[in-house]
Amino acid sequence: MLPADLTRSATALAAAVRARRVTARTAADHYLGRIAAHDGAVRAFLHVDPAVVRAQADALDARIARGDTAGALLGVPVAIKDNLCTTGQPTTCASKILADYRPPYDAHVVERIRAEGGVILGKTNLDEFAMGASTENSGVAASRNPHDLKRVPGGSSGGSAAAVAAGLAPLALGSDTGGSVRQPAALCGIVGHRPTYGALSRHGLIAFASSLDQVGPMALNLEDCTLLMAVIAGHDSRDSTSRPGGFDAAAARRDDALSGLRIGVPAEYHSDALDPEVRAAVRQLEDLAVGAGARLVPLSMPLTPYAIPTYYLVVTSEASSNLARFDGIRYGPRDEQQELAASYATTRRRFGDEVKRRIMLGTYALSAGYYDAYYKKALQVRARIGEEFARAFARCDVLLGPTTPTPAFPLGEKSDDPVQMYLCDVFTAPAPLAGLPALSMPCGKSKAGLPIGAQLQGPTGADARLFAVARALERRLALDLSPLEAPRGA
Ligand code: GLN
Repeated sequence: MLPADLTRSATALAAAVRARRVTARTAADHYLGRIAAHDGAVRAFLHVDPAVVRAQADALDARIARGDTAGALLGVPVAIKDNLCTTGQPTTCASKILADYRPPYDAHVVERIRAEGGVILGKTNLDEFAMGASTENSGVAASRNPHDLKRVPGGSSGGSAAAVAAGLAPLALGSDTGGSVRQPAALCGIVGHRPTYGALSRHGLIAFASSLDQVGPMALNLEDCTLLMAVIAGHDSRDSTSRPGGFDAAAARRDDALSGLRIGVPAEYHSDALDPEVRAAVRQLEDLAVGAGARLVPLSMPLTPYAIPTYYLVVTSEASSNLARFDGIRYGPRDEQQELAASYATTRRRFGDEVKRRIMLGTYALSAGYYDAYYKKALQVRARIGEEFARAFARCDVLLGPTTPTPAFPLGEKSDDPVQMYLCDVFTAPAPLAGLPALSMPCGKSKAGLPIGAQLQGPTGADARLFAVARALERRLALDLSPLEAPRGA
């Protein structure tokens, strides 16, 4: 077992391994033991191979014994969302169509983690192909929220968020197309960051909607999230959208971020639909910021409610195009039939209902005769949303609001009603449409003990600023950011 202080901080764990206070193997065994004890209830992981995990840890310990203690993540296990390619472990997107897929290469971000001495712990559950907000669309099983096992952990990176919150992994990677890092982070009470579009490489991230997809770090606290972000960010020539320059970790750790900060507060983020406990927690955070020298700038961003329809037209159009590759001919398993069309159809029957729905909606929106009315119109509104953000950031440095309209909802509550599920994205869909960075941080709990998240959004490239502001708020909030000892509400 690891000492408690090391389970609360991945940063402390890496330092302890470097100082030879604990071995990488002890850390790996601790998390493998936690997974064995608790993942039956949480179902955060789709694949964990203890032998593969121990082999990575033992190789690190052998290197450390030779005196080589290089690596920012030395000996720290990291859980990886199962839409990121990993050698030696499957990559399935929680879809039956990729059930047997074993990638011949690592995603860029996975390469970076290994290069810094991190241990790939296992692959986490998600809504199939990252399409959803609860993990209930997983082709395997729904994950559970460790704060209340009868509730969803959010999605689509719900397995990653639940794993970190339940102390089954100290760090995790998710992906965020319209909120899939931030929304589960908020519902599970952890930190999750969606980087500026292009701030890190998506080489090896299985594509869902390419103009929106980003990989993002997830952690118990801002310091750990900074550590992981600094490892995975940076240019990679294998992703043509990757931006030059890395992540300014020193700026992310600045502790004077609140003094003189202009915090934009759009009225639309506090509509009547917002849960009163979420509103109260976010208002309290605003007060805290003002107490530390920040200034609130009241704003109106009337296009906010248009983000969901715009997002769902763009995302389904791009998904229908990206998922065309799983045809059983060029890619994916094949069900050979007499007729070619029948072969496609039987092969593609492996897709779950939500994936099929999105392929059909996207194909429709892109088809001749409907393209102008739907896809083209969505692109026009998307541009207007970007302009509205630009106007806001002429008047403020960051925007502050809730990450989600409510705390975690009960399993099954929205799974039969796609539109209700889509409405979960009301606050998280706008930033991706504009390519902007956004971060969710814990800001309190409901009376029932469910975590509440606050979202900070910033202009392009302002990732480090968001970290510094969140870090200053985190310090003043002084919440208990330890992982749960055991999942609750079985
Ligand atoms: N909930 C959103 C959707 O279903 C976001 C998904 C994501 O970010 N991957 O598309």
